[in-house]
Amino acid sequence: MINTAPFYHVIHKESEVFFHAFQNKIPLLLKGPTGTGKSRFVEYMAHELDKKLITISCHEETSSTDLIGRFIIKGAETIWIDGPLTTAVKEGAILYLDEVAEARPDVIVAIHSLTDHRRELFIDKLGETVKAHEGFMLVASFNPGYQRGFKELKPSTKQRFVALSFDYPKPDIEAEILINESGIDESNAKKLVNIGRKIRNLTELGLTETVSTRLLVDAAKLIHSGLPKRLSVNVAVVEPLTDDPQTLEALKDLVALMI
Ligand code: ADP
Repeated sequence: MINTAPFYHVIHKESEVFFHAFQNKIPLLLKGPTGTGKSRFVEYMAHELDKKLITISCHEETSSTDLIGRFIIKGAETIWIDGPLTTAVKEGAILYLDEVAEARPDVIVAIHSLTDHRRELFIDKLGETVKAHEGFMLVASFNPGYQRGFKELKPSTKQRFVALSFDYPKPDIEAEILINESGIDESNAKKLVNIGRKIRNLTELGLTETVSTRLLVDAAKLIHSGLPKRLSVNVAVVEPLTDDPQTLEALKDLVALMI
């Protein structure tokens, strides 16, 4: 349960979409680059709807067994332990599969029957089918950067969800987020937002991922806690973006002109 309300700036009716998807028992897919507020949004909605949230950060080793459950040996006995997906299905929680495309293909197979009218989970190791609780909701996120080496989701999988796109917020909203998240003053928040926008537009650098709001928030926190501004931006924004010495130098020179 999320007890204190997370700060989330609604950008464009996404909370209404979430609410109606929940009411109508339709799974929701959040698309967008890393650090654009997808996880924060799910936490915010779980709090708004007063629901338990179970988050799984998927990676290439995440399998259906990790989600559904497994037998474990306890003393002389073998006992079954529900995995997080089974728990969410039984208890009626929100299950958030972060970066679902990264998981092993059997994860997509496992959630199949939960994403259509059946709303049921088949536990093959027990030979059991569990009907989802009224309040169960499946939310997944993925990063549609397929041209940069991220895994894709099959169209047939995507079409099982209602989907929302996330992107970097407009400058005034992003500045407000920085102020709220770090306590930084408005003038520095605006400078950070400008740096973010400038680097995002430098597509010729060929960065795998560009400056997310998360990186700007980190820079803002360091500045607010007293680290020199330029150093804060270099360590929080520039260094995490690239390891290429020339690109690093070019970005640091740019930052020196802007803050
Ligand atoms: P994602 O799940 O898309 O990778 P997060 O939800 O972790 O990204 O967001 C990263 C950070 O960016 C959050 O911790 C928060 O500080 C900030 N953020 C991004 N968008 C918003 C927003 N709309 N409202 C509030 N904070 C936001």
